[in-house]
Amino acid sequence: MKRKRSTSHLRLLFVLAVIIPCLVLGVIAIRSINREEAFIEMRLQRTIDAELVHLVSLMNAELDRVREELASSLPGDVFSSPQDALRGWKARSELVGVPFLLSPELKIIWPSLSGALSDDERAFLNWNREFITGQAPIPVYQNIALLYRDEIVRTQEIPDKKAEDAPEPGKAAEASPVFGLDRARPDVLPEEKSGIKEPKTQIEEFQAQQKALSEFEQSPALRRSVYEQAREKGQQTAPRTVASGSALSPEKRSVQQESIFISEPQRFNEITKGHENGLIPRFIQDELTLLFWKRDSSGGFSGCVINGEAFRGRLVNLLPSVYSPVRILTILDENGRPLIASDDNDKRDWRRPLVAREISERLPRWEVAAYLSSPDAVASRANLTVLILWILVFFLFIAIASGGTYILNTLRNEMLLARQKTTFVANVSHELKTPLTSIRMFAEMLKERRQPDPEKQEKYLSLMVSETERLTRLINNVLDFARMERGERKYEKRGLDVALLYEGLVEGQRVRLEHNGFEVTFQNDLGEAFIEGDEEALKQALLNLLSNAEKYSGEARKVDVDVTGTADSILINVKDRGIGVPPRETKKIFEEFYRADDSPTAKVRGSGLGLPIALRIVRDHGGDIHYFPREGGGSVFQIRLPRQGRQGRT
Ligand code: ADP
Repeated sequence: MKRKRSTSHLRLLFVLAVIIPCLVLGVIAIRSINREEAFIEMRLQRTIDAELVHLVSLMNAELDRVREELASSLPGDVFSSPQDALRGWKARSELVGVPFLLSPELKIIWPSLSGALSDDERAFLNWNREFITGQAPIPVYQNIALLYRDEIVRTQEIPDKKAEDAPEPGKAAEASPVFGLDRARPDVLPEEKSGIKEPKTQIEEFQAQQKALSEFEQSPALRRSVYEQAREKGQQTAPRTVASGSALSPEKRSVQQESIFISEPQRFNEITKGHENGLIPRFIQDELTLLFWKRDSSGGFSGCVINGEAFRGRLVNLLPSVYSPVRILTILDENGRPLIASDDNDKRDWRRPLVAREISERLPRWEVAAYLSSPDAVASRANLTVLILWILVFFLFIAIASGGTYILNTLRNEMLLARQKTTFVANVSHELKTPLTSIRMFAEMLKERRQPDPEKQEKYLSLMVSETERLTRLINNVLDFARMERGERKYEKRGLDVALLYEGLVEGQRVRLEHNGFEVTFQNDLGEAFIEGDEEALKQALLNLLSNAEKYSGEARKVDVDVTGTADSILINVKDRGIGVPPRETKKIFEEFYRADDSPTAKVRGSGLGLPIALRIVRDHGGDIHYFPREGGGSVFQIRLPRQGRQGRT
């Protein structure tokens, strides 16, 4: 009972201390391993995005430079002698495409309608005449987050008013420095049109704009509602040219977003009102054209269509190394075509970058975009990390499980041994007490002469001798076991007839056994059975088997010993009709201290040393002991000894 209880305690301990922590660890490990791929990609996206943010601000600065360069290179006398002045302007700046001059009333002065027109000039007039003369409006692009700045800031302040009271310039500036203060283009976006209230100071305005941009970028719900408002007001929203997202798993790709730049129709005079010069993007036949304009002191306007090729060249020069082992960087035009593509005729889908950013309201639909140089390389890097982690988890799991099992087994064995030793002491004391009680009883009877019958007296004496022998055997067992453990057991071997030896031994035990109600038989079918052996040790082996046959006999009190043989073995069978040994215990009963029933309430007491000692002795004589269940019930313990010639006898 006790043994079972402590084993189940150990099992519970094993489950609680090893299995459950192992499983929890396993689950945590598997979950984080599965996220590894997404994590690697996300890290990559963040790094590349930071590069794009920087690139976008470089390009915006370049747009300012282009505007300033065109304004400063424009000759002052352009209205007095247009032809020479414009030719000189064109010669000074490669950015000048088709130049034009307008009177303060927006009448076209140049290209001169009276003179002969070049193809470019004709095309220019064809597409732009109505717009520059103020007759037709064109879509003007504005950053929606800046346009709805006040609404965005107000919405975000409502839920956590207190926390937001103090502005966080650091955070806001960091969140999206792309569309900074200088991006609220006065040349395209007159402030009074945007409906933004005049802020108190420049710093406050900067903070408000950064906050609006950052909130707009981070909150999809806010984006949706702001776009909704814009549409309700009749402002034009458009999808972006690209859909960026996960390169490793296209199914995770984000839905194509709306462009941050929305448009509203405005006329030339509305656009230029209140400004000195500026850039106007126009889509002509779905191609982006940039117009530069500058107000003259007389109120007229001079300007030009910017040379597309020269302008593109300027932007391309801004790109750092286009190819790195990790990513490819490029600028995409309004149709999603790269300004520079790889030499090897890259067949990639340019509209599906890993990360992309819109550039400016002065370059609507243009994007800077980055692609993985080799998506497979990232996938295989993720796979390699995952594999390594799996192997690590596997080995850790095995190590914990086997370590835990080993410790638990050792613990169980130690506990078992400790318990066996305690039982052993109790059992041995009890075993010593039984023969001592019998000897004392017979000795007292003889001393008090209570039995006058000499035959009975003789029998009592034999019983006393037999009990003493039993005592000796028991003590010998314990002493021998100790000696064997220390490897000090010595045998004094000589040639002897083991059949004869055992016949004498059985006869010696007969009186006692019969007194205890046993029927004893001895049969020798072999005749002489000579071996080289230690007489006392061999006697001890058989005595142990006989003692067991007696102890485990139950009601059927019969012990049969027979000696048979094969060509090379002597077989001594000790048979009883007792309780037998359960099949799963037949090996264990030969282990030290092992007892089939080890409970304190066991009917039969014993030390658990009888069989192991007998086995050791027989093995030391080159033989073995086997257990067989006896037909009709009971046990057969068979000693097998190697047969030797008669010459062994001394
Ligand atoms: P013990 O002192 O307990 O008898 P042993 O080493 O002699 O120690 O025997 C080990 C166990 O083998 C016993 O506890 C008993 O369960 C079983 N056993 C030995 N001999 C017999 C037998 N003749 N019949 C049934 N069981 C036996």
